[in-house]
Amino acid sequence: MKITDLLKDETLSISFEVFPPKTESGYESVKHATEEIARLHPSFMSVTYGAGGGTSKYTLDIAKNIKERYGVPSIAHLTCVSSTKQTVRDRINDIKEAGIQNVMALRGDIPKDLCDADRSEWDYRHASELVAELKAAGADLCIGGACYPEIHPESLDRREDIKFLKEKVDAGCDFLTTQMFFDNNLLYSFLYKIREFGITVPVIPGVMPITNANQVDRAKTLSGSFMPERFKSIVDKFGSDPDAMKQAGIAYATDQIIDLYANGITHVHVYSMNKPDVAERIMNNLSDILGK
Ligand code: FAD
Repeated sequence: MKITDLLKDETLSISFEVFPPKTESGYESVKHATEEIARLHPSFMSVTYGAGGGTSKYTLDIAKNIKERYGVPSIAHLTCVSSTKQTVRDRINDIKEAGIQNVMALRGDIPKDLCDADRSEWDYRHASELVAELKAAGADLCIGGACYPEIHPESLDRREDIKFLKEKVDAGCDFLTTQMFFDNNLLYSFLYKIREFGITVPVIPGVMPITNANQVDRAKTLSGSFMPERFKSIVDKFGSDPDAMKQAGIAYATDQIIDLYANGITHVHVYSMNKPDVAERIMNNLSDILGK
């Protein structure tokens, strides 16, 4: 099932993101964790992709398994920055052969050793080029793209960020999923700005439950996210007690999701990080709201 068809339903819904193992030895435990999450029957699950392509095989294996064994629609992520045109075309064929209908088209982070390289010779410099390639493949895929309520860390300013986002959507994105954020007002203001700019595709807010203090620094580095005082106090108070931090982090993410639903958002994507217990506790907190 295509994500855009799922999003047409106005019923409140939730989906989860998982990531594939880096190596063969981690495959079984990751597969098990993703199956535990699939058993919760989210509306869909997304499976990330290692930017260097190392986990590409596992991305598709996991996405296919979730879909075929548990009937949960899946999205396979695909990055392009360190890939050649041929590699990307091969991956698109693999996706078609696996019967996956949804692809999240990403640039991927630029490897550290290539940050200062001359990019003019690269096959792909931006995700919009991958979106165009997926469209040209004529595969009838539902294509998602990433967006950043607090602007992408490489963007000069908000205006430039939204201008390039519009180019990506115009290249063929059917929907967008946001980077994590911890203050819902940033999301509401972002939605207002992009709508004003003529970006009309559905936008799925991405919420990250922070369940241990180490994730805070990682989240800041990855997304440059603003940490509201209310969130900082939770980390200060409970960060050194793993169980308490987990409970408080899940409660904070649940509050964020409830506020999003209350303000007209019908679908939320949760960065569940291969943690079935976290996904389950969030679903339980929302059971009456979601009618599950
Ligand atoms: P782009 O859309 O190409 O944007 C990157 C930067 O380039 C932005 O600053 C943009 O404004 C700028 N830009 C775009 N077009 C142009 C242009 N024509 N000229 C000049 N500048 C331009 N990473 C992974 O490795 N694997 C994953 O599975 C993965 N999943 C993700 C899922 C989501 C929902 C999100 C939000 C991020 C994900 N990432 C993943 C991280 C992502 O790859 C990085 O954030 C990366 O740095 C940017 O990818 P992008 O697709 O947004 O790139």
